[in-house]
Amino acid sequence: MAGLFVLLAWLLLAGVVGQALRLAASWRRGGPAPVNWARGLAALPRRYLVDVHGVVALRAAAARMHQAIAGGLLGGTALVLLGILPALRGAEMLWLLAAYAAGGFLASLGILLGLWLPALAGIGLAAWGGARLVVGIATGPMRHALAGAVHLAAHPRPERFAGATASGLLPAQKFGVATISDFAWNRLAGFDACIQCGRCEEACPAFAAGQKLNPKALIQDLATALHPDAPSYAGSPHPGMSSPGPVLGRLHAETLFACTTCRACVSACPMMIEHVDAVID
Ligand code: SF4
Ligand code: SF4
Repeated sequence: MAGLFVLLAWLLLAGVVGQALRLAASWRRGGPAPVNWARGLAALPRRYLVDVHGVVALRAAAARMHQAIAGGLLGGTALVLLGILPALRGAEMLWLLAAYAAGGFLASLGILLGLWLPALAGIGLAAWGGARLVVGIATGPMRHALAGAVHLAAHPRPERFAGATASGLLPAQKFGVATISDFAWNRLAGFDACIQCGRCEEACPAFAAGQKLNPKALIQDLATALHPDAPSYAGSPHPGMSSPGPVLGRLHAETLFACTTCRACVSACPMMIEHVDAVID
């Protein structure tokens, strides 16, 4: 029984590695980018827990959700099961995390006490929740979780995390993109890191004025250009635009020219995504 549980853990880990390699292969279609991995990985916990959470915490409800997830699967599970955060009951990912964590706990307890029925039930529950989370790397919110960690570690503007205002042109081997592969790979990871929270959409003066630009849709257009087979974006479109444009097979020139480069979207984005760099490119 213990062997079965260990096998499950290895299978899920292999699934995560497989999905990570698949995503990395799509980012490798982009151009090279200078990344200080040692510094980026060392800074990842602070970037995630301080910088990202600082923006997330601008909304109290979102901050509680973030703390529940970042604080650990068991803590989050207990909170959800106790119904302390009723607003989260409809979030599928939290129930999958709860199933994975509760199943793992039940399986461990069963194996420890030699109770095979609870152990088997726990393995089944953990397998169901874990497998759905692994599949979600390709099609759901777990893609953001994986891509978000890589994006924060290999961010194209690391000086932002030191409080600097960063808006100069990024170094590039050539300016302007003709295909999605012309972006540096860490920019592609940034597009995959979008959680579709809509804060950039709310902050954008061009969108508020009814211009043909929605920064959230812009980032999703770029992610769709990278993953044409992924589930299609179902959020608000660019106002007045009902069909994809010719730029990268997704965007219209009017959308790009509607951007004032004010960077309100960049400041509002909890994933530190660089919309303006994408528009300029
Ligand atoms: S604010 Fe950032 S994470 Fe949220 S929808 Fe916009 S680009 Fe995506
Ligand atoms: S920089 Fe462009 S996309 Fe971002 S908020 Fe300003 S106008 Fe909107």
